[in-house]
Amino acid sequence: MQKVVILGTGGTIAGTANDPSRAWAYQAAQLSVAQLIEAVPALQGVPLEAVQVAQVDSKDMSWSIWRQLGRALHVQLARDDVAGVVITHGTDTLEETACLLQALHDGAKPVVLTAAMYPATSPDADGPGNLRDAVRVVQESARRCLGGVVAVMHGRVWSAVDVRKAHSHALDAFDGGGASPLVALAQDDRSEAVWPSAWPTCGRFGWGYLEVNPPRVEIVCSHADADGWLVRAMLAHAQTSARPLKGIVVAGTGHGTLHEGLAQALREATQQGITVWRSSRVARGGVLAREGDEWPAVPHLTAAQARVALTLSLLGAGRAG
Ligand code: ASP
Repeated sequence: MQKVVILGTGGTIAGTANDPSRAWAYQAAQLSVAQLIEAVPALQGVPLEAVQVAQVDSKDMSWSIWRQLGRALHVQLARDDVAGVVITHGTDTLEETACLLQALHDGAKPVVLTAAMYPATSPDADGPGNLRDAVRVVQESARRCLGGVVAVMHGRVWSAVDVRKAHSHALDAFDGGGASPLVALAQDDRSEAVWPSAWPTCGRFGWGYLEVNPPRVEIVCSHADADGWLVRAMLAHAQTSARPLKGIVVAGTGHGTLHEGLAQALREATQQGITVWRSSRVARGGVLAREGDEWPAVPHLTAAQARVALTLSLLGAGRAG
């Protein structure tokens, strides 16, 4: 039987609290991934290996941690005795990591991100159940020859590009931005869940992109009174900083529309060679591309995911040759 490798990166799933009665008084990223596995009786006897890649609150996620994660995935997924990988992660930036891995992974084996909303010491900790489900999803995906990147939370399997944190404190914190989960894991008998014939296609760009230092890409938001001040402030420093600004993702209103004051500043940015992509600040539905658009629409990604996609694009990912 092939193994499942669990890569730990921290998050609330590895968090501990001193006072369980105060739900939010806890420290994320305290327990090792080996300790998380020990706390799940259903994983006893399952062939697992644990590797601690990082130990952070995922609000502090960084390109250098993604680089470590990419290196670990490169090694583990190449092993013949490994069916797939689970990544334990914080919920805050899970959607960014998922989107990045989806772009880089070759899609041959399953990579499943999971997380928790309550720390490991909470009486209602959701991490053990999510970890158990994530391991099962790797095993079941491998059995069905499904490869790619998905996220498993609260009994649902989400596509890496759909998944997003949609609630700041509910246990059922994730949704798909209007898309449905790929699989709803049945609560009683999980083997009865309906599985698709394929996971969404990966970008296959390769882990090597993480070895390069990324260009600076920032996010701005359109809103009432958005007169472009922030964009012009960025432009004033764009070329003098150690990591010059190369891209801007703008989170527009509705289906990606922009305040005219902000649009004017973004035209100035474009003239200075900065790439601008449009996403939406609206939770569901995404941006509709239209004829005559000044800036490309990122149809479905959140602004934070679009920042990842634009970074990879500026690094040349997806460009022929
Ligand atoms: N701040 C935590 C993190 O993202 C939140 C969580 O995991 O739920 O690591």
